[in-house]
Amino acid sequence: MSQITKTTTLLVIGGGPGGYVAAIRAGQLGVPTLLVEGAQLGGTCLNIGCIPSKALIHAAEEFDKARHYAGESPGQSGIGISVSTPAIDIARTVSWKDGIVGKLTGGVGALLKKNGVQVVQGWAHLLDGKTAEVTTADGGTMRIQCEHLLLAAGSEPTPLVSMPFGGIVESSTEALSPTSIPKQLVVVGGGYIGLELGTVYRKLGAEVAVVEAQDRILPTYDAELTKPVAAALAKMGVALHLNRKVLGLNAAGNAVRIQDASGAETLLPADRVLIAVGRRPRTQGWGLESLQLDRKGNALRIDDQCRTSMRDVWAIGDIAGEPMLAHRAMAQGEMVAELVAGKRRHFQPAAIPAVCFTDPEVVVAGLSPADAEAAGLDCLAASFPFAANGRAMTLESTDGFVRVVARRDNHLIVGWQAVGRGVSELSTAFGQSLEMGATLEDVAGTIHAHPTLGEAVQEAALKALGHALHI
Ligand code: FAD
Ligand code: NAD
Repeated sequence: MSQITKTTTLLVIGGGPGGYVAAIRAGQLGVPTLLVEGAQLGGTCLNIGCIPSKALIHAAEEFDKARHYAGESPGQSGIGISVSTPAIDIARTVSWKDGIVGKLTGGVGALLKKNGVQVVQGWAHLLDGKTAEVTTADGGTMRIQCEHLLLAAGSEPTPLVSMPFGGIVESSTEALSPTSIPKQLVVVGGGYIGLELGTVYRKLGAEVAVVEAQDRILPTYDAELTKPVAAALAKMGVALHLNRKVLGLNAAGNAVRIQDASGAETLLPADRVLIAVGRRPRTQGWGLESLQLDRKGNALRIDDQCRTSMRDVWAIGDIAGEPMLAHRAMAQGEMVAELVAGKRRHFQPAAIPAVCFTDPEVVVAGLSPADAEAAGLDCLAASFPFAANGRAMTLESTDGFVRVVARRDNHLIVGWQAVGRGVSELSTAFGQSLEMGATLEDVAGTIHAHPTLGEAVQEAALKALGHALHI
């Protein structure tokens, strides 16, 4: 067994969107950088998260469309297209998805190399705030000493004590690489993963039941926004069991036992169960405990420069808690690289947009009307429905709306929300308007191309000013 010792300025633990972006930017700025990744470059996001889930969402949508035209899925096609019964080869779908993942993770490797980042494959164990030991693939060990330590180890699925992973009980990781479509899928958790993947499996032909502990789905979004999602799930035939406690599998292992508020028990038949009750920061089992860093709940506590409580030890992304989103991890990673290179930066975004890729999609950026009120702001809010948008009609997707929230005194926009098919792409306009300090007049006075869903953004601003044109 060999032991090598290396020194570097910046040591990044974890090659997910937080870590790899930090390393690329540090490399661009000439900071000697070494990145350690135990599994695959790209982390959760590229390998078992954002990208594979969106690939399967697209595949399921295409299949569902074909079934719809064949008269198989709910709602008759009035568009004049008919096809014969479609079939899906799930192995080929998964391999198509894996191809996209491979292209992206290969690209990350190439970018790191191009920018002079040294990548070490192996699991890092921290010895102190400046030293890590990595067990490499050949069984040897490498000791790495650094000036700056960046913790970007991400998160992992939270297990359910009453129904641990194994057998038919899966996490999102397994659910993203199915070898078959279950007949009856029970999803525990009506949040992001439960609803995105629950919808995929429903569209691929499974019977899907979602069990949620709270009294509504997507409880972190405001209720008005999630209503169209709940209605679409009902139309699709997804059964929602709200306000329920999961007791575990039945003795035969073919049903999930749930309990309502009165204590009454029900059995939900299942040949597969997806647990999606949140993710927890990966802070155990690799020496991090010995650093005794300050915590915020399960996550590492950081300041507005992503500094932990130990000098020159930084943390970004999921390990630093909510919101656990890839674009937030990337933005933090870029900033830490610049700080290490000597630039002056703070992490103070006007908004971190969030999108739930359900059908219809939900997007939020900045403050909701309730958030604004809680913050003591006197705001006005206005919604424009897609039912009055020509492009939405041509896309057969008139459910949903765009809502703007702005200060009453100076019309500064403080928030945007939307629900509808394809609204994820509006997150760009929302983020830009908030970051650039746009007012209602700025958006209302911008010519929006016709016919686009984006016209609903302009119309929402016009409506807030009291003179919407198309409603
Ligand atoms: P991660 O991506 O988790 O990367 C951490 C990396 O560190 C991993 O590769 C891990 O192997 C490595 N690592 C950990 N410990 C060690 C160690 N000791 N030594 C070496 N390497 C180590 N977010 C969005 O913004 N949009 C989405 O659409 C979206 N969809 C998602 C869908 C699913 C199914 C899931 C699970 C997540 C989704 N997310 C989405 C969340 C997103 O994936 C995460 O927020 C993001 O990946 C966090 O990035 P990170 O760099 O902090 O950590
Ligand atoms: P989540 O927090 O979005 O949803 C978990 C849901 O499970 C909540 O509604 C919660 O009330 C419910 N729940 C918790 N314990 C329960 C229990 N015992 N029984 C029944 N319901 C229970 O978490 P997730 O869906 O697991 O996703 C994890 C994280 O990954 C998200 O918070 C998000 O940060 C990220 N993610 C983002 C996207 C996206 O951006 N589109 C997609 C997927 C995942």
